[in-house]
Amino acid sequence: MKAWPRMTLAAGPVEVDHRVLRDQSRPVLYHYDPAFIELFEHTCELLRKVYRTQYDVVIMQGEAVLGLEAAAACLFSPGDKVLNLVSGVFGKWFEDYIFKYGGETIELAVPYNDAVDPEDVRKKLRENPAIKFLSVVHSETPSATVNPVKEIGAIAKEHGVITIVDTVSGLGGEVLSPEEWGIDVAIAGPQKCLGGPPGLSLLSISPAAWEVMEKRESPVRGSFLSILDWKTTWLEKRTFPYTPSVSTVYALESALAQALEEGIENFAGRHATIARACRQGVKALGLELWPVREEIAGTCCTGVILPDGVDDTELRGLMRDRYGVMISGGYGELAGKLFRLGHMGMAAHPTQLAAQMAMLERSLADLKWPVKLGTGVGAAMAALDDWRG
Ligand SMILES: *Cc1c(COP(=O)(O)O)cnc(C)c1O
Repeated sequence: MKAWPRMTLAAGPVEVDHRVLRDQSRPVLYHYDPAFIELFEHTCELLRKVYRTQYDVVIMQGEAVLGLEAAAACLFSPGDKVLNLVSGVFGKWFEDYIFKYGGETIELAVPYNDAVDPEDVRKKLRENPAIKFLSVVHSETPSATVNPVKEIGAIAKEHGVITIVDTVSGLGGEVLSPEEWGIDVAIAGPQKCLGGPPGLSLLSISPAAWEVMEKRESPVRGSFLSILDWKTTWLEKRTFPYTPSVSTVYALESALAQALEEGIENFAGRHATIARACRQGVKALGLELWPVREEIAGTCCTGVILPDGVDDTELRGLMRDRYGVMISGGYGELAGKLFRLGHMGMAAHPTQLAAQMAMLERSLADLKWPVKLGTGVGAAMAALDDWRG
């Protein structure tokens, strides 16, 4: 049997802490038990606080990809024009949903190591007044970059455009608010910065988005993809469209509660601090960051260009098999071009950062890549002068 790693510092799912695991392992309640109704209600309330929103939230019972597809399925009508912003693999992927659900894609793309410029969004919206929707990925995990969604959302709102934001790895990694950022439908997942197990889609829905879903010629109802089903059951009557994933909901409640105990500003701040320290370590080692500018580097993981002469599978294989640290490589068309150091959830901490950086150095040395052991760890730790824990 393959040995398990000592540390999972992948780009998601991420390691889940003991309190979440303990809470998840409580007895499975009947979903109409009053105790579960109360727990589900509490979980939704916590989610609204993490999202910092007064909008309705919906917890769909499937990995975040369900929420992304559901948004497309429920919002788009045949012929609707959708401005799809592409700065990476997930942004490009959304085009398939636009096509599948009858929308017409207008693309605004940048290289996968860059971020979308809000002024280019404004230009596109001016050129194409028929655009009804805008879709964008907040934190483009495979590129380890973030898009300026706050600025983009404000421009979309000036043009009366409905926005769909994939913040699967953004929620918790940056302080956001759907109202303040002009986000009509936000989709997040528990298995990234929030540090929960995968299996749920966490949505925030604006009144304008509900209206579009309801006014469609044939609203999507009676489907696993229907967000409206959650409105007419849970939100209006405290019933469920089907049995929720009871144990995974326990874990979500626990993860959200912990994020709020820390304070969402502190929680996101911790991710930003560790990401910055990680970049310092990477640069000190003489490695190059994948994002073209440091200002667009994400807080969920750090993308590092694979250095010349180093094989991706060999490097990550050594880190995992010899030194017990599992990290992610490039994903999709970025495979073999970069590797990603992870710092989400409990991994956004000096302990995991130090171990990860040290094992990266050790593995690079094993591959005869010139490295002075301790250089990266030293620079990363030096960047934590004001860490207060
Ligand atoms: C993780 C993630 C998703 C969900 O996709 P999976 O491949 O199923 O994990 C979607 N969008 C982004 C930006 C993500 O980071």
